Amino acid sequence: MKNRKFIFALTALIIIFISYLLVNRLNDKRLVVVESPNKIVMNTIARVVAVAPDEKIARLSIDAAFEKIYRVEKLMNRYDPNSQLSQVNKLAAKEPVRVDKELFDILQQSVYYSKLSDGAFDITVGPLVDLWRKCAEANSMPTDEQLAEVKKIIGCDKLLLDANDFSVKFAAKGMKLDLGGIAKGFAVDLAAGEMKKAGAVGGLIDLGGQIGCFGTTEKKGKWIVGVRNPAKSEDNKIIARLTLSDAAVSTSGNYERFYKIGDNRFSHIFNPATEKSTDQLSSVTIIALNGTEADALSTAVSVMGAEKGLELIEKTENTEAVIIKADSQDLIKSSGAQQYLIE
Ligand code: AMP
Ligand code: MG
Repeated sequence: MKNRKFIFALTALIIIFISYLLVNRLNDKRLVVVESPNKIVMNTIARVVAVAPDEKIARLSIDAAFEKIYRVEKLMNRYDPNSQLSQVNKLAAKEPVRVDKELFDILQQSVYYSKLSDGAFDITVGPLVDLWRKCAEANSMPTDEQLAEVKKIIGCDKLLLDANDFSVKFAAKGMKLDLGGIAKGFAVDLAAGEMKKAGAVGGLIDLGGQIGCFGTTEKKGKWIVGVRNPAKSEDNKIIARLTLSDAAVSTSGNYERFYKIGDNRFSHIFNPATEKSTDQLSSVTIIALNGTEADALSTAVSVMGAEKGLELIEKTENTEAVIIKADSQDLIKSSGAQQYLIE
């Protein structure tokens, strides 16, 4: 009897030991990391890093990410006459234009962020952007009359979205949508979704200042993301390093893309209320749970300025901000930003 008990206990011990070894082996399974080459897409440089159980899965997930980014570009580039957004801009004042789900989705989200930011973020700024671009080409400032004309056709209240048939209609002639302030963040989110579907357990998508990351690095740690200050020269660009996972970071800058009239530079981000180019902040970085939100809010805060912008970030859950004013080098941080910063 004693002997049987002993054998039973020994067998149980051996089973527990083998299970322990097996679980450990599974946990210890090495992950591989594959980094894509830089590609030019959406008018910027894109790079994708994938962490996966094997190289094939990593490469497939990178391909899936780029496929989605190219699709977003094809749908939403308003400077491509064949894009769906160009069709909307051409026809929506005359008749409702039906669009694909992704485009309808980003339009709905854009209207949401317009309301949230009290109109600071507004994708109907297209005619204002065009006016300033033409003025820069002619090297002359826009006149009050030109600005007054444009003002009549700006405002998300004039953008009519019908969720029943995914159609878009404009309430005024001459309206033009510009998704430059949100499409990259949106593309990052879709790309991350595709990577997960393809089997990646971690990933980082960098789309020219819009960064999204999920899961872990191959060493099972968090991702480290450098924040560039667009106001600085190439060799001095990293202003902060962030450590995060399952989050997105977006930086909007005043100096990297601008219009030049005479000796003056004008930022490519416009305040829809004043129709002036924004000039208070040189760099706005937003950390959020997804790229669409980070992108929309970094543009919105650039328009709102440090005080009002921080107020918005404090009241919006799961978002943080790091801001640099145009006249100072100090980092202005929202209340929870420090937890992400590496000193
Ligand atoms: P970002 O770099 O994300 O801040 O986006 C800037 C781009 O958004 C500009 O180049 C314009 O295409 C567009 N844009 C400019 N002003 C606004 C605004 N007030 N709201 C939304 N988009 C804007
Ligand atoms: Mg943006």
